[in-house]
Amino acid sequence: MVMRFYVTTPIYYVNSTPTLGHAYTTIAADILTRHHRQRGDETYFLTGVDEHADKVARVAAEQGLAPQEYADKIVGAWQELPRRLNAVNDFFIRTSDDGHKRFVQEFLQRIYDNGDVYQDVYAGWYCVGCEAFKTEAELVDGRCPDHGTEPEWLEEKNWFFRLSAYQDRLLQLYDDRPDFVLPSYRYNEARSFIAGGLRDFSISRATQTWGVPIPWDPDQVAYVWADALVNYRSALSYAPGETLERFWPAVHLLAKDILRFHCVYWPALLLSAGEEPPRQLFVHGYLNFDNRKMSKSLGNVINPLELVDVYGVDAVRFYAARATTFGQDANVSVDDVRERYERELANDLGNLVSRTTAMIARYRDGVLEQTSADAPWDADALRGRLVDAFDRYDITGGLDEIWLAVRRLNQYVEESAPWQLAKDEARSDELTAVLYNLADGLTAIAVAVSAYLPLSAPRILDALGQPSVDLSLERVRGSTAVAASGIEASAPLFPRVEPPAVAA
Ligand SMILES: [Zn+2]
Repeated sequence: MVMRFYVTTPIYYVNSTPTLGHAYTTIAADILTRHHRQRGDETYFLTGVDEHADKVARVAAEQGLAPQEYADKIVGAWQELPRRLNAVNDFFIRTSDDGHKRFVQEFLQRIYDNGDVYQDVYAGWYCVGCEAFKTEAELVDGRCPDHGTEPEWLEEKNWFFRLSAYQDRLLQLYDDRPDFVLPSYRYNEARSFIAGGLRDFSISRATQTWGVPIPWDPDQVAYVWADALVNYRSALSYAPGETLERFWPAVHLLAKDILRFHCVYWPALLLSAGEEPPRQLFVHGYLNFDNRKMSKSLGNVINPLELVDVYGVDAVRFYAARATTFGQDANVSVDDVRERYERELANDLGNLVSRTTAMIARYRDGVLEQTSADAPWDADALRGRLVDAFDRYDITGGLDEIWLAVRRLNQYVEESAPWQLAKDEARSDELTAVLYNLADGLTAIAVAVSAYLPLSAPRILDALGQPSVDLSLERVRGSTAVAASGIEASAPLFPRVEPPAVAA
């Protein structure tokens, strides 16, 4: 049976340019997608942008542009993000797509027809940054704690969604599926929010014109979240491809600040529209840049694409997966990026490839002979542990397992000392076996790490004369390397990088 894996990132607001946080979710979704492809699963990966926020309309107005003109102008920078991160997203959704707008109207109409929508007056403090109403209790000194700005008093007649009517069904959903939201502390957070009582929320805006018109009341537009969340479902209805609907339900990745919208509002909206709730939601933390450390090394680099320019895309992907256990917050710095690049990528992995290929070239004229000597580590166990880690969305744990194998292989080089064996003609078979074990281990490691390092992994395989197109997880096993010839000492995989001059 073919398994399906449909993963989404949140759609990003186009009112600014991409930051490391956006890159983080995109990289994680891509690592998960590539891993599931390696298993032979059928995958679909969706990312994109949210154009209908009030804050987008405001930024556009400041620049003297119509909102759509502004969105068209800036969307390129967002489409570049997955491309530069080497992400294999199947579709890039824009909420201004006709197909999306059509689906949102049809979706909201279903909720309306189901009797879950009513008209009421809403008055409250509204944070434009959050695109959400705030209760007095949520404000700190009268300001939004996330944005530090004073919310605006908003009072208008809106269409409300009967979220309160879904409390029991949501609790049932959470009780039936204890891994519905991961990590478990986020599950608990979402479940207690539901258990604490749910308030209906407005799904329309009367004072805005930028958005999807409410089908039964075209003078109002859909509230940005009632429009944006639907993207995960709408894309499957009109993106290029056959019968994409089969991919629903999705796995949603999101940062912790939008937990309620995704883990509470969205499943309720889906239930009301007669759709299946999401398959799972994984909530991750923030990568917080340490400004003090940052200013010491790379100046004001915060743009993830600038980090890609300096260290290469694989190093940024590697760092994102390795900096903290996926799910938790981390303090990150450019110094850390450089340190891991030099110590782990260049030294642990890059040097291992250079040494192995150089020894095969020097001691065996570039010929790799397949032997059946005992391998220094258990590649089958690595495959199993990778699958376990990815089943928990633990991309950090998966990489830890791979790195244990990298270190074990480095240790094996020192223990077996091929340069000593090469001096002794009587130990020639032993040397052949050691070189095979190294090439074999590196082949398994390259396949295993390809979800994280999609550029470097095929280079390692090519350097060892191994097939580099098929990256199936089945190849992460013992005796996976085939006999090869013409192996040459490889160029450094992760060459020395000169960090740019420190900014003033
Ligand atoms: Zn806010």
